[in-house]
Amino acid sequence: MAKRDYYEVLGVAKNAGKAEIKKAYHKLALKYHPDRNPGDAEAEASFKEAAEAFGVLNDDAKRQQYDQFGHTDGNFGGAGFNNVEDIFSAFSEIFGGSSVFGDFFGGSARTRSGGRRGASLRCAIELEFGDPIEPVEKTISLRRAESCEECSGSGAKAGTKPTQCTQCQGAGVVMTSAGFFSMRSTCPRCHGRGEVISEPCPACSGSGRKMNEREITIKIPAGIEDGMTMRVAGEGEAGEQGGPSGDLLCDVHIRPHPLFKRAGADVYLELPVGFAQAALGAKLEVPTLRGRKELKVAGGSQGGHVMRMKGEGFPRLDGYGRGDQLVEIVVEVPSKLTKDQERLLREFAETEEQNITPERKSFKDKFKKLFSK
Ligand SMILES: [Zn+2]
Ligand SMILES: [Zn+2]
Repeated sequence: MAKRDYYEVLGVAKNAGKAEIKKAYHKLALKYHPDRNPGDAEAEASFKEAAEAFGVLNDDAKRQQYDQFGHTDGNFGGAGFNNVEDIFSAFSEIFGGSSVFGDFFGGSARTRSGGRRGASLRCAIELEFGDPIEPVEKTISLRRAESCEECSGSGAKAGTKPTQCTQCQGAGVVMTSAGFFSMRSTCPRCHGRGEVISEPCPACSGSGRKMNEREITIKIPAGIEDGMTMRVAGEGEAGEQGGPSGDLLCDVHIRPHPLFKRAGADVYLELPVGFAQAALGAKLEVPTLRGRKELKVAGGSQGGHVMRMKGEGFPRLDGYGRGDQLVEIVVEVPSKLTKDQERLLREFAETEEQNITPERKSFKDKFKKLFSK
């Protein structure tokens, strides 16, 4: 099936700014919202189409890819939504915990199952530079709202049950009309819950949730990089009224290394080499992520030359193989010479005049040409 252009779907120009895109999407989402069009398959399709377009155009990286390549099947990794619940949960994150519909639909990010999704939590994980050469487990402690055990999250005292709210008949929202317009707003009696608790659970004061300290062990895959964020599904705060739990987002920080630098799965090392070693060649011991390794520097190596030690980098995140260690030769010119060294070097310099190396010859030739006119 041919897909419509995302800009066309949202009815915005190619150069539309983020605010404009958000506004256009907001409008469409309200128009096609399933609560407003119950049982209307066409409206639902339009709702999904708009959500997909927004999902791509609201994300700088995805938008850039789309501008460049257009629709490329499967390239947007989950930008397509299979069901309406996905859209609600996706946008509760995009809009910082509250649904885009929140302001208009009773201030709740209610999923269709009725319960509100729990908030996502963030944590930070510190790793040493070399840690990602294999999978690591880190235990962090956090404080989060969990479902109350006493009342199984219902908020009602054990042995009692919440009763349906009489003002909204369990819908959580009420319609008020002003002239021609009718507006939906959160039910003031039950605050959108649809039910009322007459005898609150003493353990959680009727909220259905309790704050608990938890230790959570997080499995970190080999090859993780500094600045990446891991999503641990379902380890955020408990949902309300049977809603799904939020996620735990872990920001990974990797400490710098005194010798190594990293780019993706590759590791960089600057290796100081004496100029005689560079000229004559040498076998040198170099540090790698997995210990000392021997590296052969060929005679005549120039400063800036990069040697590749295959497979000595980090495992690739996708699980396919490892990066390399790239070793850049830095030729060191001695700043102090012993008498003997100086004598030898002077002898060497004298031989050099007759024995011009190819690179120097070409430089000399070009130099000559430059002033020969
Ligand atoms: Zn309780
Ligand atoms: Zn109510």
